[in-house]
Amino acid sequence: MTAQDTENIFTDIVERAKAVEPANARKWFDDLKVVHFEAGSLRIGCPDEAAVRFLREYCKAGFTRAAQQVTGHLVSVDFRVHPYRKTARKLDHAIAELRLHPDYTFENFVVGPSNRLAHASCIAVSHSLGNTYNPLFLYGNSGLGKTHLLHAVCYGAKRRFQDAAIQFLSCEGFVNKFIRAIEEGNLAGFQSQFRTADVLVIDDVQFLREREQSQEEFFHTFNALYNNGKQIILSADSPPGKIPSLEERLISRFNWGLVARIDPPSYETRVAIVQKKAHSRGLNISDEIAGYVARKVRANIRELEGALTSLYAMATTTGKQITLELAQRALDDQDRLTPRHISITDIIEVVTSHFDVRLADLQSKKRSQSITEPRQICMYLARNLTKHSLEEIGGHLGGRDHTTVMHACSKIGDAESTDAKMHALLNELTRKITQTPEA
Ligand code: ADP
Ligand code: MG
Repeated sequence: MTAQDTENIFTDIVERAKAVEPANARKWFDDLKVVHFEAGSLRIGCPDEAAVRFLREYCKAGFTRAAQQVTGHLVSVDFRVHPYRKTARKLDHAIAELRLHPDYTFENFVVGPSNRLAHASCIAVSHSLGNTYNPLFLYGNSGLGKTHLLHAVCYGAKRRFQDAAIQFLSCEGFVNKFIRAIEEGNLAGFQSQFRTADVLVIDDVQFLREREQSQEEFFHTFNALYNNGKQIILSADSPPGKIPSLEERLISRFNWGLVARIDPPSYETRVAIVQKKAHSRGLNISDEIAGYVARKVRANIRELEGALTSLYAMATTTGKQITLELAQRALDDQDRLTPRHISITDIIEVVTSHFDVRLADLQSKKRSQSITEPRQICMYLARNLTKHSLEEIGGHLGGRDHTTVMHACSKIGDAESTDAKMHALLNELTRKITQTPEA
């Protein structure tokens, strides 16, 4: 086989892999290179560690299937950082350690009137840690881009300040680590980890509300960092003063810097987001279709992505071009659906039917993966979609205590941001739970 043959075959494999799993296809796949291809083994060179991680976690099966279809035999596929990009490796490693989502960068964020202040302040902070807005506090409803912006700040800061120690975690991750430190009698270790950070980023701080002891610890962490001029970035679903049972002294500190609100995106911004998301999956859709999708889905960008994914799925399974008519059919369901009040029972119904398990199993002591995962997903969704406390959620699921629920939330929350399959699954379940056909 000549080098040219290898190149051609590889190009076919990449194209096929995109078609096999369109939701995970990205335009940058065109930059992938063959490092080694013989005797049933294909090693693919990737631009950086984040790409390697994305491909290994989400795309390995698709590439393996594509390689088998193109070559006619079984090929084992692996991904590596391309050898002649060694100079960037230290930075890649640092970024990989933070486990950031490869899609959640500033480049992939569409700016509009609804999020301009939040976006600009994140950029400013990533250029000058601790000096501009400190703390930076972002708030807004679910699905409007808070987590995306926090990941983007971390990318941005790490690119500029390679040696900066960044701690990025969900609020529940913080609380869990704190509880574990106490249990293990290693509070000093916990304190030194967080109080020596250059940047502390905590997502969804509204979950501090029922945790008195953690609020106390967080307060001291905040003071230690703030007094040393270290950057603090927080997000929540409401402004500091509106977070129930948050201590006054924390509320006042959260207001010291900049509090930036994110609103639901305007029509124009939604159109631009649809186009950007389509483009990053290597797909072009007309303005007319982007406009159609943007008119259908208004409140939440996560749903906008869900709509786009249904559209792809329909286009690839039917092998048809994406036309306005196809878009209308794909989103027809969405049209008949309206938001409503959500109860834990609604969540349990959708999750048990998706996983084909019984409520009794979720409530039992069974610890097999096939039961634990749906149980944890129920807890996570109940936490995010209802106002029930950790204790109440635990109560519905077999009388489990609040630390178990908290552990589940942080585990599934982490998986949501690092595992595309989990991300897609949660979107799908949320869509089913939040919308029900009109009577
Ligand atoms: P939140 O943390 O506020 O609930 P996320 O950051 O998880 O919301 O955003 C939900 C989804 O919407 C993510 O996939 C994110 O990439 C996407 N998204 C949100 N805002 C934007 C934007 N302005 N441009 C592009 N994508 C966005
Ligand atoms: Mg979020």
